[in-house]
Amino acid sequence: MAGYDKPCIGCGNLIGFDSKFCPFCGRTSPFYDACPSCAAEIKRGWMRCPSCGRELNITCPSCGAATFVADKCDTCQASLMIQCENKKCQAPQFFQNTRCTACGKQIKQSNRRK
Ligand SMILES: [Zn+2]
Ligand SMILES: [Zn+2]
Ligand SMILES: [Zn+2]
Ligand SMILES: [Zn+2]
Repeated sequence: MAGYDKPCIGCGNLIGFDSKFCPFCGRTSPFYDACPSCAAEIKRGWMRCPSCGRELNITCPSCGAATFVADKCDTCQASLMIQCENKKCQAPQFFQNTRCTACGKQIKQSNRRK
C-alpha cells in the first residue's frame, strides 16, 4: 500500500498519513487537535468535546490564562503534557488526565496545580 506523507501539526515533519502518533515530537494526533480524554477530533473555538463532553478551554497551570486543550499553552507556550509513568508506555498525556489514554494506567496527580 503506497502511503503519502503529511506534515505533523506539532512539529511540521512529514510523516505517514496514517500515523497514530508523530515519531518526531510524540504527538498522539499528528494531523488534528484531539480531545485529551477520548482522542476525538476537536476544533479551536469549541467549548466542549462532542464525544465525551469535557471542557476544551482550561486555565493554564503556568500562567493562569485561559487556553485551548492543546500541547502547549496559547499564552506562555508552557507544555500542558505530562508523560505516562508506565515505563513501557511513556505516552504523552494531557496534564489533567487521570488515566493514560494509551495503556490505561492511573496517572498520579503530584505535579498538578495545587
Ligand atoms: Zn510531530
Ligand atoms: Zn472527548
Ligand atoms: Zn500559560
Ligand atoms: Zn500509558
